[in-house]
Amino acid sequence: MADWLRESARVIGEHRQELIDLDRAIGDADHGENLDRGFSAVLAKLDGADSGTPAALLKIAAMTLMSSVGGAAGPLYGTAFLRAATSLGDTERIGPDDVVGLLTAARDGVVARGKAEPGDKTMVDAWTPAVEAAGTAAMAGASVVEVLAAAANAANAGATATEPLIARKGRASYLAERSAGHLDPGAVSTGLILQAAVDAAGGQP
Ligand code: ADP
Ligand code: MG
Repeated sequence: MADWLRESARVIGEHRQELIDLDRAIGDADHGENLDRGFSAVLAKLDGADSGTPAALLKIAAMTLMSSVGGAAGPLYGTAFLRAATSLGDTERIGPDDVVGLLTAARDGVVARGKAEPGDKTMVDAWTPAVEAAGTAAMAGASVVEVLAAAANAANAGATATEPLIARKGRASYLAERSAGHLDPGAVSTGLILQAAVDAAGGQP
């Protein structure tokens, strides 16, 4: 879990400018900056907290993201991570079903908070296919890394599929038809964060 959060911070930092540019096209150009600030703050909080349960680490991340990201994405990712933490309880070793449970809880948190449906051109368009793909993979007997990979691939495909959509939620919805032809920044960042989980878990036994 600590490795996932660290890898998320690294990858968000690496894609900071790309996320800024995506948000410039259909928003206010702050998504990359917001997330980079938030995950850098998470990184700072992780020092000395590595010994906590996975849920405790996720909860630290959730609180930090909520208080430091701002914009729409702060409360959305904060809620996602908090619900994911709650779904784990005091689990010490995360299995494939726990991964499905935490992704489902995260997605449900985003939907509860933002009220977006699939097709509204938001991060829900990455989270929802990720949850479905993870569930299918786990049911077929996939390992943790395989379940995460299925989720990340589906999230990235979902993010790519936001390009032609007209935004119906968030700042991009102010542009109406003019929001079509651009990727949704939050769907892209969701894909990056889930890919970070694959890369972090790949090195685990
Ligand atoms: P802001 O829009 O306040 O500037 P950000 O730029 O950080 O916040 O985040 C924008 C992203 O937040 C969008 O690309 C979209 O994925 C996500 N988003 C915005 N509103 C919603 C919503 N109601 N439900 C789900 N996701 C949303
Ligand atoms: Mg923005």
